[in-house]
Amino acid sequence: MSTLFISDLHLCDQQPHITRSFLSFCEHKARDIRALFILGDFFEYWLGDDALDRTANMAQQALSNINQRGIDLYFMAGNRDFLLGKQFATACGMQIIEEPHKIELNGETALLVHGDAQCTDDEPYQHVRTMLRNPEWQRQFLQMPIAQRIEFAQQARMQSKQHTQNSHAEIMDVNPQAIDNLFSQYQVKTIIHGHTHRPAIHCEDDKKRIVLGDWHYQTSYLSHDASGFHLICQ
Ligand code: MN
Repeated sequence: MSTLFISDLHLCDQQPHITRSFLSFCEHKARDIRALFILGDFFEYWLGDDALDRTANMAQQALSNINQRGIDLYFMAGNRDFLLGKQFATACGMQIIEEPHKIELNGETALLVHGDAQCTDDEPYQHVRTMLRNPEWQRQFLQMPIAQRIEFAQQARMQSKQHTQNSHAEIMDVNPQAIDNLFSQYQVKTIIHGHTHRPAIHCEDDKKRIVLGDWHYQTSYLSHDASGFHLICQ
């Protein structure tokens, strides 16, 4: 049985076509599989488990249906949905995993990360990331009224868009040294990540770095079975 990996769907009410693709994926692809790993930026933004929009409710129903088929679900946070909490995860029947997370696939280990932490050339972003991942900052944010959280998120997305437009493409990619460090620190031959929206399987010596794709114009997922890895964009 295969294991599937997805990331960077950026689900939100404003992009209903992506939600439709995901629901179709759940119905047709997420069957007779062992597990589904979601490696971050599943949602375009997350304002707290007490602030679900229509898309979040639909995704919850779809995930919980998959889980009821006996398929294991795992969720790793990305830079946009890092506030997704236990309450929502439990309602979906998925287990939250922290990055980096090591898994075993047919006796071989692989390391899972979202990918943003390895974009070390983007210093301004890494600075913001440190703040956003601070538990005390997160606690205070989640205590704000929902309207205030929405306002903050809108501003943050606008700034992030400007920053992306103003930065060189190489800066927005993972740093090779940061990736090498992961390979050696965790003693793995395979790393799977998303975030950069540059789907590919990079092979160097005996090491493999698999990058998942986003879902804006396609359905993109990685499948692993007895014959190995298959990166599918359709
Ligand atoms: Mn990301």
